[in-house]
Amino acid sequence: AAKEKGRNQFHIFDPGLDAHRRQRRNQLVEISRALENEEFSLYFQPQVRMANSEVVGFEALIRWNHPQKGLLSPAAFLPAVENSHLEIPLGQWVLKEAIHQMNRWREAGEAMAVSINISAPHLMDRSFADYLESYLHSHREVSPSLITLEVLESTALEDTKRASNVLARCRALGLQVALDDFGTGFSSLTYLRTLPVDVIKIDQSFVRNMLTDSNDQAIVESVIFLAQRFDHPVLAEGVETTAHANALKSMGCNLIQGYGIARPMPASSVLPWLDKWRDTVSRNKRLPELLD
Ligand code: C2E
Ligand code: MG
Ligand code: MG
Ligand code: MG
Repeated sequence: AAKEKGRNQFHIFDPGLDAHRRQRRNQLVEISRALENEEFSLYFQPQVRMANSEVVGFEALIRWNHPQKGLLSPAAFLPAVENSHLEIPLGQWVLKEAIHQMNRWREAGEAMAVSINISAPHLMDRSFADYLESYLHSHREVSPSLITLEVLESTALEDTKRASNVLARCRALGLQVALDDFGTGFSSLTYLRTLPVDVIKIDQSFVRNMLTDSNDQAIVESVIFLAQRFDHPVLAEGVETTAHANALKSMGCNLIQGYGIARPMPASSVLPWLDKWRDTVSRNKRLPELLD
């Protein structure tokens, strides 16, 4: 009878919602196992200075090398991680791995700057800066000034005051802060005013259509203008073609990142890629023509 009752109770709940919850729970178990089994890795995408075609650094982007499904993008697993107990551990893994990698490059003679995406709970966590500090302390060879924290502008920060304190402490350690996906959130201007920020990243959704959509063009122009007024360098994401780079250059955009320069690559490809890029630049090829 109890079993019968149990089955009936099950039907009271929305079976669709229940299935969804179960699926997420299973995925979180899998992700937790993946963390233990070291199935995650960081890919790196170059960020280039418009004026002299110099690579200023790489953005670290997480990938999951799934034993059955192959290489997975963040869109396939980060939504499940969001607001779960795994968000902080995964974020800490990213931080550690990025700093490890910076140290390996340093040992190879390349003091590479790396941008790291951090999620909202880290920004709300007063101990984040302590954690970062102790971690940097055990990797003293890595200069904090080479690290940029990318803060997602679209993550609703419940408490901008607290976030701004956490970021201020990180900056006091020597790190830089970039406002990621600028313009996609609800509070772009508030964040710009409240958070201690160094770089502004224009979201790729605006960049993608700016050549054909006059609204998007106006947004890109305005963000660049705004960044200049605030004295922040501005980086455009999602730059895929020479035409995009050309337009951005004439608008005064400082930095670009996108498939047109390179797709995100495994750490092992970074130094060979950098050699080739520098070789091309030394043969007097410059942006934006370099994208051809
Ligand atoms: P994001 O930080 O804005 O990163 C840029 C995304 O745009 C990356 O997608 C990158 O591969 C993609 N991209 C770069 N250039 C182009 C281009 O020219 N065209 C197109 N169509 N796409 C381009 P990805 O790697 O799939 O990452 C998606 C998002 O997942 C990131 O957006 C970031 O918000 C999040 N993410 C990635 N890695 C991490 C991480 O380690 N921690 C956290 N918290 N979030 C991460
Ligand atoms: Mg980013
Ligand atoms: Mg972005
Ligand atoms: Mg994004």
